[in-house]
Amino acid sequence: MNIQSISKYLSLCVIGMTISCASVSSTAQNKKPKNIILMIADGTGLSQISASQYYNTQPSNYDRFKTIGLIKTSSASDLITDSASGATAFSTGLKTYNGAIGVNTDTIAAPTILEDLEKRGFATGVIATSTITHATPASFYAHQKFRKMELEIAEDIINSGVDFFAGGGRKYFENREDGNNLVATLESKGYEMYLDRLNPMLSLKKDKNYGFLLADSGMPKFLDGRGSFLYDATKLGIKKLSQNKKGFFLMVEGSQVDWGGHNNDSEYLISELIDFDTVIGQVLDYAEKDGNTLVIVTADHETGGFTLASKAGDYNTIEPSFSTGGHSATMVPVFAYGPGASEFMGIYENTAIHAKMKKLLKQQ
Ligand code: MG
Ligand code: ZN
Repeated sequence: MNIQSISKYLSLCVIGMTISCASVSSTAQNKKPKNIILMIADGTGLSQISASQYYNTQPSNYDRFKTIGLIKTSSASDLITDSASGATAFSTGLKTYNGAIGVNTDTIAAPTILEDLEKRGFATGVIATSTITHATPASFYAHQKFRKMELEIAEDIINSGVDFFAGGGRKYFENREDGNNLVATLESKGYEMYLDRLNPMLSLKKDKNYGFLLADSGMPKFLDGRGSFLYDATKLGIKKLSQNKKGFFLMVEGSQVDWGGHNNDSEYLISELIDFDTVIGQVLDYAEKDGNTLVIVTADHETGGFTLASKAGDYNTIEPSFSTGGHSATMVPVFAYGPGASEFMGIYENTAIHAKMKKLLKQQ
């Protein structure tokens, strides 16, 4: 081979590489996820997320996302949504009334994405720092007219098929007024139930489901010693669900960012948000390594009308403040990473999150 033909050969190679590189990157973009991890920090708007940048000693894991969108959160009944209709929009794709758990505006049960995927052979899980029967997690596996019906919501988890759940709410499962012991029922249905602690090193059996109910009501505040519960539960949950060849769907909620907002307690809010942020870090690390996992981080609505205002006009001092003890109507951000992430750019209704997840997990 003479010099000319070598250089011709090399330039053909370069062309060849360019073409194959281009086709690889377009395949990566069109690639569909095998797993979806939906992370909801209840009540988190842009000011809350900004707080994770100003008040964290570590870099915020929100900063790792390149793909960002915004959702409109109004419900069918109100301009300002509550967490039940907000989560039901994600889980069923329907706008419904405030207080509705997995039901439409006529109070009829609507199938949730968790139930759909469970039927199709995916492994499923829900994790929350509230009771596991609270509005956000409940909307993924239960169908009840009102969010306060936590005794009935607890019954709905029995036949949901959910493979892994962790949170508070023990009192809705045992020592109930009606005398039913749902912990025993779950055990008879193949669940290993844990009522005192979650061991992140637990060895997991393939043929068992797992339930962790670690507080009577909601889990303690992070400030009151909840420790690494959310981090550990997410780690163990992913370990369990990823045993399933077909894929999995996991919902992880930082429930108490919202409660800090309702209390107009910025220390409470920010500590919950930073706890959630560390879990985002873990989940992104997993997704980067796995390559088949779509991570979506969003919120159902903003709580508190939270703002990072200047203190008495001093532009070098932030004074976190609130404009309401309730929720607000402001749009909330959506962060996405992994196969299908580009679907989540733009401004759209909260119900579109459901449609996008469904489209991405179609015919698999
Ligand atoms: Mg919630
Ligand atoms: Zn709330």
